[in-house]
Amino acid sequence: MIIQQQVCVPAGMDHKKELLHAVYGVYSGWVERFPLACQKGCAFCCTQSVTMTSLEGEEVLGFVKRKGMEKWLIEKLGKTTAAKSKAVITTNQYARACLEHQKVDEDALGGWNFTPCIFLREKICSIYEVRPFGCRSFGSLMRCSDNSGAEIAPIHLTVNTVFTQIVEHFVSDGGYWGNMADILENLIENQASGSTRSLLPAQPIPGFLLEPYEVKLIHVLLKQLYEQSVEKQTFGDLIDNFMPI
Ligand code: SF4
Repeated sequence: MIIQQQVCVPAGMDHKKELLHAVYGVYSGWVERFPLACQKGCAFCCTQSVTMTSLEGEEVLGFVKRKGMEKWLIEKLGKTTAAKSKAVITTNQYARACLEHQKVDEDALGGWNFTPCIFLREKICSIYEVRPFGCRSFGSLMRCSDNSGAEIAPIHLTVNTVFTQIVEHFVSDGGYWGNMADILENLIENQASGSTRSLLPAQPIPGFLLEPYEVKLIHVLLKQLYEQSVEKQTFGDLIDNFMPI
């Protein structure tokens, strides 16, 4: 069963990067409860299917510049043309379509490209500290292999989707969502041309896709998020009327 919770688009959100880090913090604290088999050096999830927002792209690009990797990144992106996403809707658009009982092809979110991520070096992430939420949400209860994918608890998947929706929501006032390579390439090109080709405008949360038994947990998690301290205020203060679930 799907439950729709109407939410409001926040007016004028400041401190978006701090809000993003609050989401990362609450999520990582929550996900620790799972006995995940994931270990450093296991990189089955690190493919060119990762998606993110333009806000997360700015974080990655800032890190790349600080590390003097910008030229390397531009060259790398130039060689990934065939690997980019064909997503036609964002996570929040997908959620809206489901809530409105529209038929949606799951491939509309971009499908899979198993080419290794451009940031993977000897099976280690070279931008680990600024990796986007899509990467932070990786996890499997069993060791993955060439023949078996990740095994993830349904509630873990639900929380991943809820937090992915929140991160998209942060930039729904003019930001973008898309494949990691597309976002980075556009951020770099945009500095010169103003182009945002192949990206999708980020959308506000239309509601969450929850089973009745998941509502209480999501409520607890969102309450925890609301109470996070952000720039001498709380997360809830900065995004008033957000997610009244
Ligand atoms: S950014 Fe890092 S964690 Fe994310 S897919 Fe690439 S290598 Fe893996």
